[in-house]
Amino acid sequence: MEAVEPAVVVSCVCCGLEEECTREYIGGVRAYFGGRWLCGLCSESVKYEASRSKRTAAMGVEEAVRAHMAFCRMFRRGGHALRGVSVRAPPRLGAVRLS
Ligand SMILES: [Zn+2]
Repeated sequence: MEAVEPAVVVSCVCCGLEEECTREYIGGVRAYFGGRWLCGLCSESVKYEASRSKRTAAMGVEEAVRAHMAFCRMFRRGGHALRGVSVRAPPRLGAVRLS
């Protein structure tokens, strides 16, 4: 058995997706997004939105996170996170169903 760095499960503040990440990675993401953790997809969207806005860098990220959170809530229309139930999200890739 190899010694693996222990992974921590975190959930995205935007879409509620849960991912297992190392503490180092989580710390880096939280530092960038002002203490919040965003999944890979959401963080890419927010970074894109922030880079598009021509405001100051800090405000750009903060506003982009809020905008994306609102977008995700609207998109999910009362998904599981809003009911306070933690559901482990199925993997988005690799789950191919053959009928
Ligand atoms: Zn997300």
